[in-house]
Amino acid sequence: MEFRELGKTGLKLSCVGFGASPLGNVFGNVSDEDAIASVRFAFQSGINFFDTSPYYGGTLSEKMLGKALKALDVPRNEYIVSTKCGRYKDEGFNFSAERVTKSIEESLQRLQLDYVDILQCHDIEFGSLDQIVNETIPALQKLKEAGKIRFIGITGLPLGIFTYVLDRVPPGTVDVVLSYCHHCINDSTLEDIIPYLKSKGVGIINASPLSMGLLTESGPPEWHPASPELKSACQAAATYCKEKGKNISKLAMQYGLLNKEITSVLVGMKSVKQVEENVAAARELAASGIDEEALSEVGTILKPVKNQSWPSGIQQS
Ligand code: NAD
Repeated sequence: MEFRELGKTGLKLSCVGFGASPLGNVFGNVSDEDAIASVRFAFQSGINFFDTSPYYGGTLSEKMLGKALKALDVPRNEYIVSTKCGRYKDEGFNFSAERVTKSIEESLQRLQLDYVDILQCHDIEFGSLDQIVNETIPALQKLKEAGKIRFIGITGLPLGIFTYVLDRVPPGTVDVVLSYCHHCINDSTLEDIIPYLKSKGVGIINASPLSMGLLTESGPPEWHPASPELKSACQAAATYCKEKGKNISKLAMQYGLLNKEITSVLVGMKSVKQVEENVAAARELAASGIDEEALSEVGTILKPVKNQSWPSGIQQS
């Protein structure tokens, strides 16, 4: 497993990260046994970075991840945990200082941890970005001083939210940016802001390399927000790969890992088999590179929908 440095944090993350939203049954039901075995196998395979949120499965993902990490029975400094604040299944969005300060206590309890490595404001395009700058991030800085969290992050879909916030906070305040669905075979727009993010010294995490299930043989979950056109183009790409004896998810995982400015590619996993496949994809990429022919063919199939995304968040004034 390759490890890459996360911005200026000093943290070294495995290039494949474990996305724990599936442990909240977000992509279908997962048994406790499968959840615990997946986390264990991931850790044994060299994955040291695990991401969750109170939002995933209405706190279930955090609880399952906590249980699984505890079952590893290894020193706390051998794994890196990120969770989030400000987005809740029952309450909706609340980025107030009071709520996020209470939120970390709840998360730590569910995760059975004394601190998390990264606390991220979750999907900030649904809140007021000025509140994130003036209230939420200062509250997170206090949590940092109190030792509850080591680093501060922001997450969301529209890339403009990152530049808005990073242009307004003192340098070094935000340590990490988590972007999703923008560095996949069908959407490479994250690349456009990598030089800017590097200039701000923030670490970059690329989540959802399979575009939340679009780039899988079985297709996305019911709730997936992509247009019918994007869904059917991705399905056509998956079918093309299958007919050639190839796997779209492996190709998508490898594509996600190509840019080394990105520290970790966070993929959601719910079984030992998926961990095995994604780790093998990373190993094969390091040993023999990506399948250029398949990448080019899939690129041609996806060309009509290239960089097509979907609306997310509230209009910022
Ligand atoms: P993803 O693109 O990683 O896709 C996950 C889906 O692909 C799941 O159904 C999973 O079971 C399936 N899958 C995984 N490996 C597979 C394989 N080898 N073959 C076939 N199917 C496979 O989407 P995601 O889970 O939404 O994103 C990854 C993680 O990133 C999340 O779990 C979460 O931790 C994080 N994330 C954060 C945000 C945010 O903060 N706003 C948004 C999206 C994702």
